[in-house]
Amino acid sequence: MTHTISPAQQALLERYRSSHVGVFGMPGLVLSHGEGAHVWDVDGNRYLDLLGGIAVNALGHAHPALVEAISTQARAAVHVSNFFTTTAQVEAAEALLRIAAAPAGSGVFFANSGSEAVETAIKLSRRTGRGEIVAVTGAFHGRTTGALALTHKEAYRAPFAPLLPGVTHVPPGDIDALRAAVGPQTAMVILEPIQGEAGVVPAPPGYLASAREITRDAGALLVLDEIQTGVGRTGAWFAHQLEGVVPDAMTVAKGLGGGMPIGALVTYGPEVTGLLTAGQHGSTFGGNPMACSAALAVISTIESEGLIEHAIAVGDDLVARIEALDHPMVTGVRGSGLLRAIRLDAPIASTVATLARAHGFIVNPVAPDALRLAPPLIITTDQLASFVDALPAIIDEAVKETA
Ligand code: PMP
Repeated sequence: MTHTISPAQQALLERYRSSHVGVFGMPGLVLSHGEGAHVWDVDGNRYLDLLGGIAVNALGHAHPALVEAISTQARAAVHVSNFFTTTAQVEAAEALLRIAAAPAGSGVFFANSGSEAVETAIKLSRRTGRGEIVAVTGAFHGRTTGALALTHKEAYRAPFAPLLPGVTHVPPGDIDALRAAVGPQTAMVILEPIQGEAGVVPAPPGYLASAREITRDAGALLVLDEIQTGVGRTGAWFAHQLEGVVPDAMTVAKGLGGGMPIGALVTYGPEVTGLLTAGQHGSTFGGNPMACSAALAVISTIESEGLIEHAIAVGDDLVARIEALDHPMVTGVRGSGLLRAIRLDAPIASTVATLARAHGFIVNPVAPDALRLAPPLIITTDQLASFVDALPAIIDEAVKETA
């Protein structure tokens, strides 16, 4: 049985198209609600959500702790502005610093998205008095014009040239290239521990540690973009913790709010934290109590439900099941915890994802030959197994369709 889309849903999609700027193309579905690791479209079709809103719905959909936190906060105060603060904001910052294992004197700047967190990092780096930034080929750091200058993909950049000057991209995983690119004018090196949008490509073991050494020697900031990898997704609170590296700053967003829009820059230690001073940055909505109460609920639920250990266990089980598939089109799986890409032997990921959706599974063709899985951290082994069991037939169908 495959899901079909009713004329009524089709009509809503058409209304979407005629009422929005066309940057996303046509959405796949009109969703109505979710529960746990499932979502439903407006026709009542149920899907296993293996993308989690692009690594956002850490607690899945309608988790009681998140619903309770934001309902309670909504009844109390939805917004207060940065002329004031709230208990939620103070506690969210403290919780974020705690899970980041940031030393005394560290700080948080709350924004509303990943891109804004990256913009904040760019401004932080400018305060070193240096003007150059080193990023990595394939990097994705966002779409706002500053962040876009750090993002590598030409198709995203070219229509908006000229972008922020002074940005160099070096090949991923290449320590010598990084060392050669970093010099006395380098303000920061920005790295994703696992490149998410490039196809879930982890930095090789030891790379982050070398980057730490190179930046320290050059007096440049090491900024880690944990927007996709952070908040328990990859088997630690933050992926770099698995490598024993301490950055100068870290960008966080996506999973932090469990679906409520929030971004954050964490600055490590008093020296880096002191680079940005009164009046040098701001945000009307940043630190708003709704987002902060959501972040608190996410962090405390990940702790109380042991979701980091769970992500490791179900992630390992997923890998074992995929490796056991023994399908000629499945060539492997990469990533960590519950941020994974299934590698395919042909550029059929987009067809596979479309067919998977018709069979009730939401996955993302992150590259022509790779399917990204970034499901809610609460997903069960059985739920992941149901997808792996269905995958060979879906791939066979895709092979036929693309032949
Ligand atoms: N950095 C990384 C590593 C990301 O994955 C993303 C989003 N895909 C961003 C930055 C930008 O985040 P946002 O879309 O919230 O602006």
